[in-house]
Amino acid sequence: MVSKSASKEEYAGLKHPKSDFSKWFNEVIAKAELADLRYNAKGFLVHRPWSVTAMKAMYTLYEMELEKKGHLPVWFPAVIPEENFRKEGEHVKGFVPEVFWVTEHGAGERLTERLALRPTSETAMYRMYSLWIRSWRDLPLKLYQPCQVWRYETKSTRPFIRGREFHWIEAHDAFETRKEAENQVREDMEMTENVMQRQFGIPFIFFRRPVWDKFAGAEDTFAADTIMPDGKILQQPSTHLLGQNFSKPFRIKFKDKGGKEKTVWQTCYGPCIWRILASVIAQHGDDKGLIFPFSIAPVQVVITPIGNSDSVKRKCGEIHSRLCRSCIRALVDDSDKTPGWKFNQWEMKGVPLRLEVGPKEVQSGKYTLARRDTGKKQLVPESKLVDTCKTSGEEITWSLIKSADAFFKKNIREAKDISSLSYALKKGGLVKMDFCSIDRKGEPCADIIKDKLHADVRGIRADKKEKPKGKCAVCGKKAGCVVYVGKEY
Ligand SMILES: [Zn+2]
Repeated sequence: MVSKSASKEEYAGLKHPKSDFSKWFNEVIAKAELADLRYNAKGFLVHRPWSVTAMKAMYTLYEMELEKKGHLPVWFPAVIPEENFRKEGEHVKGFVPEVFWVTEHGAGERLTERLALRPTSETAMYRMYSLWIRSWRDLPLKLYQPCQVWRYETKSTRPFIRGREFHWIEAHDAFETRKEAENQVREDMEMTENVMQRQFGIPFIFFRRPVWDKFAGAEDTFAADTIMPDGKILQQPSTHLLGQNFSKPFRIKFKDKGGKEKTVWQTCYGPCIWRILASVIAQHGDDKGLIFPFSIAPVQVVITPIGNSDSVKRKCGEIHSRLCRSCIRALVDDSDKTPGWKFNQWEMKGVPLRLEVGPKEVQSGKYTLARRDTGKKQLVPESKLVDTCKTSGEEITWSLIKSADAFFKKNIREAKDISSLSYALKKGGLVKMDFCSIDRKGEPCADIIKDKLHADVRGIRADKKEKPKGKCAVCGKKAGCVVYVGKEY
């Protein structure tokens, strides 16, 4: 039954199928109203309520995990005095090409010292750490901030994937010993698993990056690589063992239990919520549009009235309050569009569950609940609505996780030499192969892969030891490690 006032406007879905990934991705971002791509500053994104609500839920889950592991929140200034910024040599070299500088105010009056818009906050926070940390009692210090950072990207920018401004969390930890810092790196990987994989449904492998691909200023970098639907690799959270590379120039010292002065050991960890949303959009969506895992959906259940009788309207209101009281994000779509139009629209926006409320349903006391991922419908008695929404929501998340895992596994291939590597890379994903080394002496072989195949050596697995069986796939010398190669965004 169609309401009399319903407009007859025909529903315009997505023009591009997901197999045409790049076009699909931009189209779904615009049409599902995640962001508006028409802003007139290149690389800067206007975020609309649909993406912000999802990212707020993602932030909350990530921050809960960080706090469970002993981190506390801070907010640091967005600007970093040049003096701080230049303290760690490698870090400066790595970041200076991308820094936005604030150099003047008002009508062109120069500042006495240039201020960097933070591209990352090591050099802001560690100056304060050197004032805050005095003795072993102040350690470990584990702080994080959710914030925006700015980097002048010269590569082509893409919404939620690469921008000149993005939204992330950075955690910065300081310890008495190197051992504790190494344990923190492992804990960072665990947190990534607990949140990004188990709650957002994004599978990954943590790689220890080759020395030529480390974070500027780190002793060691570990980064989670994910695979996008077009077979390209997208780097997600990374964690870095900073050693004492920053604590020495910043003089972050403490007195140990014996009263001896020592320098702290540090780590930093950066889950980029903005970019994880790109993986969520890409990984779970289909030809009809987005599909959100239940816990991060901006709206979890959309209630669609069929017809506009008073009893239907009243029932929609009652069910809405009941779901909201049980902490389910629900919405009644009482716009004047046809039910069919609404179904399509909320499917495109990725709402996990749809509840249909018409006169028949009101009379029988049983309501049709439809799943976004499978399209399956079931009749649910009113008294069971809350429980069924919650269990169906969990089932949706679970099934998204399972199919994402299957996609990921299917896209890991093996190669023995350059030609089989080239063949495997054409299919996309990660290619596993024997390689000489991820130390400096392996760099010439990595350069060959980069020049010939436009792909990168992502590193060796951090989660398990893999022994090479034969020769380096590039130079043919005895292999020292097993690496994974992929084409990056
Ligand atoms: Zn080699």
